[in-house]
Amino acid sequence: MLRKDSAEASKIPNLKRRLVDGLQVITGEGVLSGSGHLSARIPGTKTFLINPRFAGVLADSKDICTVNFEGKRIAGKGPVPSETPIHAAVYRSRPDVGSVIHCHARYSILVGLLDSGLIPFNREARLFADGVPIFPESRGINSFTLAQRMVDALGPHYAVFLRAHGVVVVGPGIEGTCLSAIQLERACQDQLLMMSITTVKPMSDAGRGRNNARLENPYRAWPFLLYKHKVKSKAEIRAGIRTLEEGEHY
Ligand SMILES: [Zn+2]
Repeated sequence: MLRKDSAEASKIPNLKRRLVDGLQVITGEGVLSGSGHLSARIPGTKTFLINPRFAGVLADSKDICTVNFEGKRIAGKGPVPSETPIHAAVYRSRPDVGSVIHCHARYSILVGLLDSGLIPFNREARLFADGVPIFPESRGINSFTLAQRMVDALGPHYAVFLRAHGVVVVGPGIEGTCLSAIQLERACQDQLLMMSITTVKPMSDAGRGRNNARLENPYRAWPFLLYKHKVKSKAEIRAGIRTLEEGEHY
């Protein structure tokens, strides 16, 4: 047990660095603003890492807090965000989830107000072809009672709109979850643009759903975003790229 604990502890600095990178990228992409938070489960524990209650883009590794599944801060200076119960409630209920984003992204809020919700009509939206439910309450989710109702609305899906408030996006890992939130925001923007021109219909093969492995996209989308937002030097990004063999597919 001790050995397992220390093995998990050794992964924490790396998880914190990836979380900080993720915060830079999703802020640069307009998903996060001065508000919103990104968390990551510490594997094998009932704890997770989250940025404190100030603009996520300003957080360094040393600022990242460790919180337990009761929503209580157990390490880091804090304070933790008032909506931390969102994250704790998701981790409690969804063992498949390793990372959670809650944000108040502009276009996601607008589409969450439509009766139709998200209509997966293009490639960007394919990730969410199994549906993005709409949680009808718009107040801040600062209690476990409310957070559990939100988790019930989320069900097995990868995102839930919080009506007139924001969105919660979940996924197996930090980078994939960040990419999902970016794709959702872009899909919402595209949908609104299309709706101003014509009636939007879902793709005929939208039901194919998503591919988590592909979403992690270790050699293309994420390195590009790290470069675009100057999170790391080009050399550092290149060094971290895990290339696929020729002919190898996800
Ligand atoms: Zn919120």
